[in-house]
Amino acid sequence: MDRKALFELLVSPPVFFTLLLVSRMVFFTTLEVIRPARPLAYRAVIRNDLVALAAYIYIVFPLAAHLNHLVQGQPSYPASVAALPVPLRVALYYVLADFGHYWVHRLTHTRFFWRVHKWHHSPTYMYWMGGVRATVPQQFLVNIPYILAYPLLDISPWWMFLGIAALSAIQNDWMHMNMTWRSVWLERIFVTPRYHHVHHSADPRHYGANMGNLFTVWDRLFGTHVDPDRVEPNFSFGLGTKENPVRLMLGV
Ligand SMILES: [Zn+2]
Ligand SMILES: [Zn+2]
Repeated sequence: MDRKALFELLVSPPVFFTLLLVSRMVFFTTLEVIRPARPLAYRAVIRNDLVALAAYIYIVFPLAAHLNHLVQGQPSYPASVAALPVPLRVALYYVLADFGHYWVHRLTHTRFFWRVHKWHHSPTYMYWMGGVRATVPQQFLVNIPYILAYPLLDISPWWMFLGIAALSAIQNDWMHMNMTWRSVWLERIFVTPRYHHVHHSADPRHYGANMGNLFTVWDRLFGTHVDPDRVEPNFSFGLGTKENPVRLMLGV
């Protein structure tokens, strides 16, 4: 097989995402086993999480993307923005999309929309695969800021989409992984595992804390920031209530 054919094989979505998933599994599990934040019985949770992951890959994401496509167009940006260098446009894409993601996340924590996001908060443990639960309506809403920001990347190479999708999966693994350290410097800019773990706390004092997805600045600006250093470390995760699993998964 020549190099071009090999490249084309590696960037075909089924091969690319399968290799990516195996790499994520090996990489994050190794880190968690070396330095776990809390003890976790993987065997007790992995089956449900693999089902949730498969549901996300084969049902939730494609269905939500299809619904987004049906109801929503993409904005066009001024030519001066399209003329910016690629790294600047990529940075702008992440800032705008993450700002939108922050507000969509806040929306899903309001009384009416909470039902669409509850499933994500249902696990009573955290590890790299603990954050894969997303309902179709939640994914539909979360996709909106990314679709609105996506034209910023438009004239970039087509395979950039794969890179963006891979980073988004890796970032989700990272923020939920079962590993913590005192990451004060990093948290000035980025959401870290211990930072997002506070968001999953079952303690009512932490409800609505640390809503950021990639950047922590939105939490600081809009009053939802809780410093993980000021939180007692042994809080528990989950909803703290018994829920109907079908309604949780459907987000209704
Ligand atoms: Zn949340
Ligand atoms: Zn989460």
